[in-house]
Amino acid sequence: MLDKIVIANRGEIALRILRACREMGVKTVAAYSKADRELMHVRLADESVCIGPPASADSYLNIPAIISAAEVTDAVAIHPGYGFLAENADFAERVESSGFKFIGPTADVIRLMGDKVSAIREMRAAGVPCVPGSGGPLGDDPDTNLQLAGKIGYPVIVKAAGGGGGRGMRVVQSEATLMNAISLTRAEAKAAFGNDTLYLEKYLERPRHIEIQVLADEHGNAVHLGERDCSMQRRHQKVIEEAPAPEITEKQRQRIGERCVEACKRIGYRGAGTFEFLYQDSEFYFIEMNTRVQVEHPVTEMITGVDIIREQLLIAAGEPLSMRQKDVRIRGHAIECRINAEHPTTFAPSPGRISQYHAPSGPGVRVDSHVYSGYTVPPNYDSMIGKLIVHADNRGDAIRRMQGALTEIVISGIHTNIPLHIDIIADAAFLAGGTDIHYLEKKLGLH
Ligand code: ADP
Repeated sequence: MLDKIVIANRGEIALRILRACREMGVKTVAAYSKADRELMHVRLADESVCIGPPASADSYLNIPAIISAAEVTDAVAIHPGYGFLAENADFAERVESSGFKFIGPTADVIRLMGDKVSAIREMRAAGVPCVPGSGGPLGDDPDTNLQLAGKIGYPVIVKAAGGGGGRGMRVVQSEATLMNAISLTRAEAKAAFGNDTLYLEKYLERPRHIEIQVLADEHGNAVHLGERDCSMQRRHQKVIEEAPAPEITEKQRQRIGERCVEACKRIGYRGAGTFEFLYQDSEFYFIEMNTRVQVEHPVTEMITGVDIIREQLLIAAGEPLSMRQKDVRIRGHAIECRINAEHPTTFAPSPGRISQYHAPSGPGVRVDSHVYSGYTVPPNYDSMIGKLIVHADNRGDAIRRMQGALTEIVISGIHTNIPLHIDIIADAAFLAGGTDIHYLEKKLGLH
């Protein structure tokens, strides 16, 4: 097993990784910024190294500082968590060329899947269904592009190959605005991602977001752990996730899961990963792969009993997967609410000191959070301060369990989005299940 690892992240995921390490007898090094001395995982880690000032660019994104932290502590591997450097191929490469294991796929695979044009090409070749589109990069010839869009059929969406975080895309309703949209998106993509490659896709008007969790080892084994529905979103940020996805049948799950497993084998995938799909009219359309652990991984853990972080560590240690596809069983239903330090109606960030904190508990209730009474949420990072997760025999029971847990949780001193969750979890359309990705913004009157 790995002897000692550096946790190159913060917040709840750093604590989640630390917990898995402790259970497995892996020693931990917390690499933290000056704003994060009081973080729970920094207190609990075997060792800790300050990697720089509060600004992420100088600490959690500071590659030499993180690699030094591994060197001075004699660690053998680095876990990037999610966000920050988790999908940075250059980081993965430098970690491995410095003699450490990167807990994630190889740099080449991160690069391949990080470029959406090459990702879509690989997925098509593996038989993964993709959104109808250009299937390759757009050239500069206006007539060819107009023809291409006409063939796909309006509305279309112009997307940047290097795009991420919901940026670098533009919906085009008709021929009249296509050329302008292409040049605007190209300029933006060049400035934001240093890559002005664009492609075209059919714009799906009322899709759901459904994603497949996979695990793959270094020995050519891969499994899928079923799907999650993450359609409840605001500004492309997931707010509530659940597993399994309402209405998805076992047959559909198996069929799309098999395609994802096939794709993992084809690209030589290693570690935990997620294939993201838009789902409309009973069809799946691949949009991108996340080559890391995701915020919403706990809902999958709850329904499968698989500890995804533990599997990541085992895979990084060169172990074969601890399960085969036939061992993966889905039991019950799980829901996760992301708790953010933000105003529930204006969404303004609300950093500050948490004067009182009480976490709900009871059967089937899980809280993944680093906060505690007296903890001060710094203003420098993402506003997510924890995740409330419930598991029950079926969706109805899970919803009732979440309703109870949301009324029990206490976080005072700062604003949180808990009132928003209380509202959504009692919403008639959410109760019915299967809302599309625009539902929440419509409900909030945002469009
Ligand atoms: P990012 O890497 O920025 O998250 P994605 O390709 O995952 O980019 O797309 C982000 C979001 O944009 C999707 O979740 C969806 O809401 C919307 N989107 C992307 N492609 C399409 C499409 N072809 N049709 C409709 N919506 C789309």
